[in-house]
Amino acid sequence: MQPIWGALVGQSDAVEKLSRAVTDADKIRNGEPGPAMTHAWLITGPPGSGRSTAATTFAAALMCPLNGCGTCQICRMTPFGGHPDVQIVIPSELSYGVEEARELVRLSAFAPIDTPWRVIIIEDADRLTESAFDSLLKSLEEPTPHTVWVLCAPSVEDVLPTIVSRARHVSLRTPTTKDVMQLLINTYKVDPAMAAFAARASQGHIGRARGLATEEASRTRRQSDLRSAISLRDVPSCVLAAREMVTAATTAANTRADELDAKEDEQFKAAFGIEEGSRVKGASKRKVDAAKKQLADHQKNRRKRMIRDEADRSLVDLLGLFRDVLMVQVGSNLELINQEMRPAVESFAARGNPADTTRTLVAIERARASIKASTPPQLAVESVMVSIKDPKLASVHVNMR
Ligand SMILES: [Zn+2]
Repeated sequence: MQPIWGALVGQSDAVEKLSRAVTDADKIRNGEPGPAMTHAWLITGPPGSGRSTAATTFAAALMCPLNGCGTCQICRMTPFGGHPDVQIVIPSELSYGVEEARELVRLSAFAPIDTPWRVIIIEDADRLTESAFDSLLKSLEEPTPHTVWVLCAPSVEDVLPTIVSRARHVSLRTPTTKDVMQLLINTYKVDPAMAAFAARASQGHIGRARGLATEEASRTRRQSDLRSAISLRDVPSCVLAAREMVTAATTAANTRADELDAKEDEQFKAAFGIEEGSRVKGASKRKVDAAKKQLADHQKNRRKRMIRDEADRSLVDLLGLFRDVLMVQVGSNLELINQEMRPAVESFAARGNPADTTRTLVAIERARASIKASTPPQLAVESVMVSIKDPKLASVHVNMR
């Protein structure tokens, strides 16, 4: 196995399939590669399982002259969009439209520059609209000989069946706590105790585990979310706890969005040759203005999505906490996700019963779904807090709004 696959923890089946494809990609006869390679791939797996890592590692291995040595410039740069023959598309809007999809199809027709393959990776392909899928379809059916499409989505159900039937499917599983822990220790040089905590707390989400292990702010935020959820006294304290949770999520999202925006703004200026203090006039001004507006819209939508994603992350932490409460209430011996909070979890568990805790878990899942469907996070999280405080009242609170 080539070293580059080490980035994919606990995914031996997927690695096997993709690395065989890379080997067969070299065996071109009559214009077609060996049977393990094909032109359309669908990589599915739960959030944080490493879908985009799988896709970009695959692309890098296809580009690398040694099929993924893991150390050359190509292996190191490709996953970050640093190879001219690999396009990584991240649809940041809530839905990815037909225009953008057509643009990709046009792009796929160009011959690669440096290598035999042009790889187009679509992360979060579940955000494609139906008509966007339709415009990709023909290119997936009759791809130009050099094109490789890699679509990533949470599950097969998130992608149109017509796409699924034309793509080879690679499915990732949720990595085990042990796998995540090893990754943190080996790749990110995290000390074993911290790695154990972060792996457990992240519930198999690799990006989340890395954040918890390496950023104190993430740990503090998580801790305060969980503490306040089990110390609610009355309805005003529910509203306050929700506000604090959503504010913290928003701040975290904004910090990352600011960084991304700043980087893109720089690239934009470079692309249009705009220097500080210079003025553009006439037709070229209109062109620049249109592009500027497009970028601003894209950034605004991405920021909105990132805030939702962060709020969802907090709710997933709450799911873990109340799963722990339930474990204690039913007398299970399983290790708690929040082992370090065991006394607080036990004392909360003693005040309730499994039926109520199950209602709370349902309320949290419902809030996650409603945030996904555009409910403002503050409202959704408030109803969760009320449900934690009084599981039987939760539905009444929601109906009153
Ligand atoms: Zn290499």
